[in-house]
Amino acid sequence: NAYLDAIDRANPSLNAYVAVTHDKARAMASASDAKLARGEGGVLEGIPLGIKDLFATEGVHTQAASHILDKFEPRYESTVTANLWADGAVMLGKLNMDEFAMGSSNETSFYGPVVNPWRRANGDNKQLVPGGSSGGSAAAVAGWLCAGATATDTGGSIRQPAAFTGTVGIKPTYGRCSRWGTVAFASSLDQAGPIARDVRDAAILLKSMASVDPKDTTSVDLPVPDYEAAIGRPIKGLKVGIPREYRVDGMPDEIEKLWSQGIAWLREAGAEIVDISLPHTKYALPAYYIVAPAEASSNLARYDGVRYGLRVPGKDIVDMYEKTRAEGFGREVKRRVMIGTYVLSAGYYDAYYLKAQKVRTLIKRDFEEAYASGIDVILTPATPSAAFGIADEDMAADPVKMYLNDIFTVTVNMAGLPGIAVPAGLDASGLPLALQLIGRPFEEETLFQTAAVIE
Ligand code: GLN
Repeated sequence: NAYLDAIDRANPSLNAYVAVTHDKARAMASASDAKLARGEGGVLEGIPLGIKDLFATEGVHTQAASHILDKFEPRYESTVTANLWADGAVMLGKLNMDEFAMGSSNETSFYGPVVNPWRRANGDNKQLVPGGSSGGSAAAVAGWLCAGATATDTGGSIRQPAAFTGTVGIKPTYGRCSRWGTVAFASSLDQAGPIARDVRDAAILLKSMASVDPKDTTSVDLPVPDYEAAIGRPIKGLKVGIPREYRVDGMPDEIEKLWSQGIAWLREAGAEIVDISLPHTKYALPAYYIVAPAEASSNLARYDGVRYGLRVPGKDIVDMYEKTRAEGFGREVKRRVMIGTYVLSAGYYDAYYLKAQKVRTLIKRDFEEAYASGIDVILTPATPSAAFGIADEDMAADPVKMYLNDIFTVTVNMAGLPGIAVPAGLDASGLPLALQLIGRPFEEETLFQTAAVIE
């Protein structure tokens, strides 16, 4: 009830939730009470969570923050949310996001922008973005409108919003969580993960979300470790790689300083700091913005006005498709569909898509070589800046500026690796900044262990 009250009070200004499931939340909470009274209950019994609008929730608003999925209520539950409910969690509602998870500021949502609960300390009182695409998840956690949230990350959508809101977000290894019942953006990059208030909460939530699932053949049949147990383990002797290519041109001083501070903390805790090279880093962002739109254009072909959501009548079926897609998709989604269709088309496939896939292999190999040389974990900044203002003029004028937000995060998705964003300091105006740790495949434990030292 306290969380529902907080939502009713703050959501009109934050716009973090697109649907609040008051009745369902109360019913689930009473069931949890009864279980706890009997001395039963799972690890998340009674814990109220917010769910990104990308996860299918049975009989509940699931629209990927898009107009084209108007009134869509699935008849099935995503595996990730089913796992959370099986452990006793309570659903508060569905969280705002960039439309189809395409964006870095939560401004592409059909439901309007999410407002970051943080403000600059300089008194300008400007409304800031919470990052994206999981901006509703990050804002709801930071604003105490849920105890934790689900999110997804295709190129940074868990880690960048976590960084902008002083929360913890982990994108696990590709295959750690089932993608079944999660609306697809770019299937070879998409992964679910939690956004939470601290490292321990993130560890508990990920443990519950992760599972092998016969309904997603890319989910991996490996035992899910007790991530929480990794917190507090000493990091003495751990080899931490510092990739020189992440020292990008024009990196602000405060990000540079934050990074050095992180290095110092890990060294003091006994880690060995090693300079490493990931030579193909600079190609990751352009290659990502070919691969992700290519997969998106294919995945989004299913929204045709016949099967789900919105249908705008036309004079014949083709006219109906065109009108539905013209009205149902927002600008950014259309841009991605057009880029994707272009790079997959017969004359350009080899030059763009195939080339990007080759670059992707080289990026993956860079990491493999670093890990083969004995590196346990890699430390980088999470984002090139703190949260920026809503309707930032530079970003609005040039979509590539917005894409540059993902410069430190997309490599991790391209290589399928786990990455965590952990709050590490404040910028000059008092806004949160985060560091990112990148791990070996399926070694999320090392990320929790190391992030707990920084936190
Ligand atoms: N900002 C990136 C994009 O717009 C990443 C989004 C995501 O991870 N879902 O594609």
